[in-house]
Amino acid sequence: MLSLMRASLMTPLNTTAFGLYVRMWHHAGLPAVDGLGGDVGANYEAINASRIDEFEAIARRKLAQPSCVLKLVTCEGHHLGELVDCRLATARAA
Ligand SMILES: [Zn+2]
Repeated sequence: MLSLMRASLMTPLNTTAFGLYVRMWHHAGLPAVDGLGGDVGANYEAINASRIDEFEAIARRKLAQPSCVLKLVTCEGHHLGELVDCRLATARAA
């Protein structure tokens, strides 16, 4: 997503690249952007999903950092000392 953001500062993104940017934005759980409308991602997916899939595969292959892999996350059911209902909490901890 940061690579596409930087590219967008140098040149306008084409439909596929912008669709991937919006897809990544959504998957990252970032808030909606004013002025783009709530369903902008769905619109790009509707017109170009297969090309966005291809761009995503290329981006993942070219930008992957083997040392930056999310390891298995475990949770004891507490965040910052507070008991929480966390989906990552193990059954034993919950
Ligand atoms: Zn947790």
